[in-house]
Amino acid sequence: MKKMKRTPILIYYIIAVVVIVLINAVLIPKLREPEIVKIEYNEFIEMIQEGKISKVEIDERRIRIEPKEQKGVRKLYYETGRPNISHDALIDLLLESDIDFKFPIQEETSMLLYLFINFLPILVLIGASYFIFRSASKRMGGGVMNFGKSTGKIYAERETGKTFDDVAGQDEAKRLLVEIIDFLNNPEKYSKIGAKLPKGALLVGPPGTGKTLLAKAVAGEAKVPFFSLSGSEFVEMFVGVGAARVRDLFKQAVANAPCIVFIDEIDAIGKSRDNAIGSNDEREQTLNQLLSEMDGFDSSKGVVILAATNRPEVLDKALLRPGRFDRRITVDLPDLEGRKAILKVHARGVKMDENVDFDVIARSTPGASGADLENIINEAALRAVRANKNIVTQKELEEAAEVILAGEEKKSTVLSEKEKWIVAYHEIGHALLSALLKNTAPVHKITIIPRTSGALGYTMQIEEQEKYLITKEEILDRITVLAGGRASELVQFGSPTTGAANDIERATHIARAMVTMYGMSDEFGFVKLEKKTNPFLSDEVAGSYSEETAAKVDEETRRIVNTCLNKAIELLKDKKEVLDKLSRILFEKETITGTEFIELLKQENINVELEEVQ
Ligand code: ADP
Ligand code: MG
Ligand code: ZN
Repeated sequence: MKKMKRTPILIYYIIAVVVIVLINAVLIPKLREPEIVKIEYNEFIEMIQEGKISKVEIDERRIRIEPKEQKGVRKLYYETGRPNISHDALIDLLLESDIDFKFPIQEETSMLLYLFINFLPILVLIGASYFIFRSASKRMGGGVMNFGKSTGKIYAERETGKTFDDVAGQDEAKRLLVEIIDFLNNPEKYSKIGAKLPKGALLVGPPGTGKTLLAKAVAGEAKVPFFSLSGSEFVEMFVGVGAARVRDLFKQAVANAPCIVFIDEIDAIGKSRDNAIGSNDEREQTLNQLLSEMDGFDSSKGVVILAATNRPEVLDKALLRPGRFDRRITVDLPDLEGRKAILKVHARGVKMDENVDFDVIARSTPGASGADLENIINEAALRAVRANKNIVTQKELEEAAEVILAGEEKKSTVLSEKEKWIVAYHEIGHALLSALLKNTAPVHKITIIPRTSGALGYTMQIEEQEKYLITKEEILDRITVLAGGRASELVQFGSPTTGAANDIERATHIARAMVTMYGMSDEFGFVKLEKKTNPFLSDEVAGSYSEETAAKVDEETRRIVNTCLNKAIELLKDKKEVLDKLSRILFEKETITGTEFIELLKQENINVELEEVQ
């Protein structure tokens, strides 16, 4: 349906309208009520004698006469009143003259004709649209793919136009998919030796990491058609529709083998049936249909099923059984090199300044997905256009990264003088602590310009390099830096504000993880208490332990966070003049860059710790 052109449809509709107009102008008047001319009774008798009548209909009070001679488009009748002569006399006369007669008069505009006239245009329209649909679907699929009525949501592409070149990084995933491509191209090579390739592979990873893109790239590399269906679209009103759709999908796929069948967001149908609260008939039927289709078809035909999900833990075990999606390919968030590569892929189509440094952008965006990075490039291009530039420079890129990560600057938020002071002290508190502590990432930017995300200001730190392991000291320093905002408020104003809510949330989360997941507390030591429920999506954790333990975990978490807060307060008190001076500068300038910050610190002779980091 996607590829249907719009113009031919318009032409068909114009033809349909013309036909309807013609029917109304020419055909319908012909069929309209007959013309009835009143005549006298003696004229009627005359007509009988002259043999001009072909038929007569008789009623209680009227006689309708159909003359032999008809001219004009409308049917002509004569009508006369029925005089008070005996019935038999008239009948005799008619019989004598050999004229057909009938009782009673039948009105010509019969129900049938009436219906016909009124529904003919509609019939024509239906016929026309059937014709349009047939020729359109023929054109779309080159006559091969047959789009029936329940397949409205299957997307078929002859060529996806994507290749592995479009997918940056993800080398591990690509390596595993190369075999599938080879299989699609030379199925005999595998069947000759008796090797069975997996029927399906499951792409697992957080949203926006390129799962859909990879699936398309596999089809593109193998040069086979791509059939796809999204799990979320299966959530149907009517039981059975999803199952029918799955059946159609596989029917089409087998007819077009070799090809790729892609089921996006498979968790929407493949949710585990065991722990569902109440049952969902529709989903269950769809899942069962999918399972039986997967079992039913012969993989040597060259149909490979790919599916994607970011919630592998909810999938029904039956789906993961051998012979179904037994191969699992992790598509994780990109690391530093991956992010750089993705930025470059998307920068291909954009005019960039020669000396833009993707490294800085990549380093400032840990945790960003491929989709986020694509967004950054696009946002940067838009900014360049807005600034009337011909090329995108580093400035736009950095601004774009900030917008994607922190939200747009919000000029409409007007802080009072006092609030602005508090925010300045808060942010300098974070920044100064990250400079004072050893195990922290350097400050890249400090700003107190409010953002649409609701942040009144923020301090951006950029790691020197990608971190795969984090030590206990680093975690503690991180919590201390997070506590720095609140600590600064306390040191300067003596009272806390609501501005630290997000810092508190993050600090608590990290501290709790130290206790329950990383075995970094004195109280519990090397013990797992909780684990992440979803490795890819949220930070949600779950564990089962006694209430006593829960209380101790809370206690331990509290202790860690508050120790860090106290440390932050002490450090800032110690450097109160620097805190005051930098806060004043930030208050006036509103933004301090990383380089400026280092310069300012040097003037205050606090460059010792910083150099150790670098
Ligand atoms: P997912 O299906 O994993 O949620 P998508 O495949 O829909 O993610 O990716 C969204 C967009 O992000 C893609 O269209 C692509 O432009 C971009 N993208 C994601 N990962 C990559 C990557 N590794 N290389 C290049 N672009 C990527
Ligand atoms: Mg997707
Ligand atoms: Zn803060």
